[in-house]
Amino acid sequence: MLKDESLPLTRGATNLVFGVGSPDTKILFIGEGPGYWEDQKGEPFVGNAGKLLNSLIQSIKLSREDVYITNVVHHRPPNNRDPEPEEIEAYQKYLDSIIEIISPMVIVTLGRFSMGKFLPGVKITAVHGKRFGINWKGKELIVVPMFHPAAGLRSGEVLRLLKEDFMKLPEVFSELKKENKSQQMSLI
Ligand code: URA
Repeated sequence: MLKDESLPLTRGATNLVFGVGSPDTKILFIGEGPGYWEDQKGEPFVGNAGKLLNSLIQSIKLSREDVYITNVVHHRPPNNRDPEPEEIEAYQKYLDSIIEIISPMVIVTLGRFSMGKFLPGVKITAVHGKRFGINWKGKELIVVPMFHPAAGLRSGEVLRLLKEDFMKLPEVFSELKKENKSQQMSLI
């Protein structure tokens, strides 16, 4: 991937920002794309939105090392603009490989771009915090769409909803464990 010159955002970016966390986890967070600090450090969610994401993850007694975190595009869009549909499509094969390798049971989408990959046509204001069972390439998994942490930094109301939605995750995890009780199952 480092050598894939066909990727549309390579030119303006300093670093590839692939993913971070535990390869053994069953919980995957997918954001939008790297910002300034992520581009500098080559790691997703290390700026202000990342600090908020860390504290939200800690609020449910997990840490960022317990989950896996990535984005829909893996190079920083110029001036932090939104990724274009053709850019999202160009990086899709890499995101799909991450999903295949991690093989999550729960995907938490952060913001509308990653949500649109699994739940096209829905409105985040209508569906945030709800659990959706989907079939991803033949595998049943759960998608929980959430607001993007950066939106939580801009609006107190979105922050409140984000915190509330995170608090619903432990129940999603324990229901999953119950449904899979025949197997010794651990999500992290
Ligand atoms: N916002 C994102 O969507 N991803 C990051 O990695 C950082 C900020």
